[in-house]
Amino acid sequence: MTALPATTGKKLGLVIDLDTCVGCQACATSCKEWNAGGYSAPLTDQEPYGADPHGAWLNRVHGYEVGEGAAGRTVHFPRSCLHCEEPACVTVCPTGASYKRAEDGIVLVDPDTCIGCKLCSWACPYGAREYDYGHGVMKKCTLCVDRIYNEHIPEEDRIPACVRACPTGARHFGDLGDPDSAVSQLVAERGGFDLLPEFGYKPVNKYLPPRPRRDATTAHGEAPSTAAPRNGEAAGGATGAAADRLFAWVDRMLSR
Ligand code: SF4
Ligand code: SF4
Repeated sequence: MTALPATTGKKLGLVIDLDTCVGCQACATSCKEWNAGGYSAPLTDQEPYGADPHGAWLNRVHGYEVGEGAAGRTVHFPRSCLHCEEPACVTVCPTGASYKRAEDGIVLVDPDTCIGCKLCSWACPYGAREYDYGHGVMKKCTLCVDRIYNEHIPEEDRIPACVRACPTGARHFGDLGDPDSAVSQLVAERGGFDLLPEFGYKPVNKYLPPRPRRDATTAHGEAPSTAAPRNGEAAGGATGAAADRLFAWVDRMLSR
């Protein structure tokens, strides 16, 4: 059993815009490249060119078809550790290898004390833990802790590699514990929501819902609604139904 800090000085995390993510995988590959040589190194792959390739990826992007025909759309869903405020992945750890930093809320794994028991991956409802079969320890998103405070790289690069690489600006990084931060303002404006809030893990990362699409009705001057669901609330109309199906899919996928 590993204790959590009573509170954290900051709540650093990501805000991911499901409206503008195009599923290009730049975040996933940039993450892999950075972490294969950094804090989480090595991030091993098994049979990368074989019939059953698999490996440790700290950020994965899934694609989902919502709706049908002209009303259909593809939603891309990036998935990584949400740096929860009350993560059981930490409290179940028998060695203290999983821990949450008091200063900024980042959840990390110490590879020197991880025994590879996988209890944390069972405890994480988001599927965000990645067992490294080559290294025999658990790995996960570090929020690029070795970049964001790194004074040896240009200031504009002191953000997570995934945020730096995203060509559409769908990923945002900042302190979600500060209501005046840009990320907190964005969440407030766009109705950012928690994944699976019913679990009570209080994820720090937030997702911004897809905006309603312009269609034959709205394309001729009628402004589309920007109302967005919060924490799983249903949005209205056809787009609301599509959003409901998206959230149901996310719940199903994360419940596997
Ligand atoms: Fe732990 Fe999973 Fe939350 Fe990350 S998303 S802090 S691995 S419970
Ligand atoms: Fe989506 Fe940006 Fe990742 Fe591309 S880099 S998959 S647009 S979040």
